[in-house]
Amino acid sequence: MMGTGPTGASVLTSTYFDGVSNRRRPVTLALDGDLEISEGGSVVASWPYADLRTVDGREDMLRLRCVSALPLARLDVHDPAAETGIRARARFLDVEHDTAAQTRRIVAWSIAAVVSIAAIVLFGVPLLAERMVPLIPPSFERRLGDMADNEVRIIFRGRVCNDADGNAAFAKLVETLRQAGHANVTLQPAILASPIPNAFALPGGKIYLLNGLLQKANNPDEIAGVIAHEIGHVVHRDQTRMIIQNGGTSFLVGLLFGDITGSGAAIFATRSLFEASYSREAESNADAFAITTMHALGRSPAPMGELMFRITGAQGGRTIGILESHPLTEERLALMRREDRPADGPPLLSDAEWNALKSVCRLKTQK
Ligand SMILES: [Zn+2]
Repeated sequence: MMGTGPTGASVLTSTYFDGVSNRRRPVTLALDGDLEISEGGSVVASWPYADLRTVDGREDMLRLRCVSALPLARLDVHDPAAETGIRARARFLDVEHDTAAQTRRIVAWSIAAVVSIAAIVLFGVPLLAERMVPLIPPSFERRLGDMADNEVRIIFRGRVCNDADGNAAFAKLVETLRQAGHANVTLQPAILASPIPNAFALPGGKIYLLNGLLQKANNPDEIAGVIAHEIGHVVHRDQTRMIIQNGGTSFLVGLLFGDITGSGAAIFATRSLFEASYSREAESNADAFAITTMHALGRSPAPMGELMFRITGAQGGRTIGILESHPLTEERLALMRREDRPADGPPLLSDAEWNALKSVCRLKTQK
């Protein structure tokens, strides 16, 4: 790196495209006054800082255009010192940037959809899902999650339990599990006032616990194991894989027609989340994640198995989310019991926190 600091006169190297030819021109920058671009000692362009805009596309450098220069002129700034200096001076660098970037992303994903549909025909869907999921950026996954989330809130009529102490206890539990599982994701936990004993996660990290399951739980470890399992699905991106795999074609077709914020794709996404089950392999992986996480906290995964068995034993029927996709609760219980360890870590919640969590959906606190 050749930078001498943000104001270093003319040793900040960059690459300039003049907007006429496609030649890469190695240039030096002077940051005082306007942004002065020099090649071989003579100034070839002078860009006012107010006219500078970032151009989306590269993570490893700052790519600039100038609204008062030729439309295709670009400046690639590789030097971190130069980038810092420019960012400090240019006030409108990211104006329009977000929406433009989003549009580009949607266009890119529409193209991906066309390729995908071709690939579905050629290779079959499961292979495609395996190949596509690693390519999907987290930002897109969050968008997918937001779409599904809208539908979830319609289905549950927005009945999110909003008792502050109960939610604080739940957030603490989820964060403890996230850290213990080394899950490098942002999680958004919420509890829904539904009598269905269930829990599920959406792409991008929204985690829902339904009050019905909470009320059936006898202690924090039972809930913790289930939530750890759901975090496992998020970390492994199983929801996204499932959407592509089970609902793939229609979902991608929706995307192709720019239906990304329309209800069609969203309803489809949610439906596939609810109606489709995770693969057995995904389930095993999520269980393994839950077991490792609980062990890391010095807690046993066995209570989770007990809770699930208690519920399916009582219910017996098909339902959605964690239960529908977990028909093998006896097998799971056996596994969790094999992984049972005496609890040598501190309790995950205090008695007061657990009581607050249990009453998070009290009527008087609902809106
Ligand atoms: Zn699962």
